[in-house]
Amino acid sequence: MNAITVILIVTAIVALLAWLVYASASISSGVYVHTLCRAKTDKPVIALTFDDSPHPQQTPLILDILKEYNIKATFFAIGSNIEQYPDIAARIVNEGHILGNHSYAHTSNFPLFSPNKMRDDVARCEALIERITPPEQRYRLFRPPFGVTNPTIGKVVKEGGYTTIGWNIRSLDTVRPPLVAWQRIVKRIRPGSVILLHDRMPESHILLEKLIRWIDNEGYQIVNINELFDLKPQQV
Ligand SMILES: [Zn+2]
Repeated sequence: MNAITVILIVTAIVALLAWLVYASASISSGVYVHTLCRAKTDKPVIALTFDDSPHPQQTPLILDILKEYNIKATFFAIGSNIEQYPDIAARIVNEGHILGNHSYAHTSNFPLFSPNKMRDDVARCEALIERITPPEQRYRLFRPPFGVTNPTIGKVVKEGGYTTIGWNIRSLDTVRPPLVAWQRIVKRIRPGSVILLHDRMPESHILLEKLIRWIDNEGYQIVNINELFDLKPQQV
């Protein structure tokens, strides 16, 4: 084998590995799971989503702000958190927001689960959501932990009839101060955007209020995920 052949083979392997990393790490790649990340629209509408809900201190503050501004949002809940804070989960639903599925345990090895284990984990979270959500408010939405997708997740989501919701604006609010996260978000807002936030962060309410005021000032309207993507309730 000559040097050029070796270089070509190495380049091909590196390119393949890079593609595999992109396919699983980028939720918008859509390689393994068909994912709704941004709506195709010219209208100035966007949606807010919160991951890892509910949180005992922060979620009530977030709900207070949403109520004050009359805004509906989607909360991707971790099943074990619903069990721990059932009243807050119920409040999310009772105030007209959507409770989505973010897995039961949200463990870092979720993407490595066997199909059976993953199916059980996701179904366990969904059962908790269904128990507190009236049929007309059930959308069977799933957001993979860490935004990672792979063939097993693709299979489980498809078989379970879930609609996978991604995002096109990652706020990085878990690793940046609210002001930096806010600047990052507003630079990226376009019609149809889906913003990823985390209500569990200690200053999430500060970021949310600042964001709502900016969005309102710019003439955008905040709608919920079901309206943004024209989804119908899934009464399975
Ligand atoms: Zn998460």
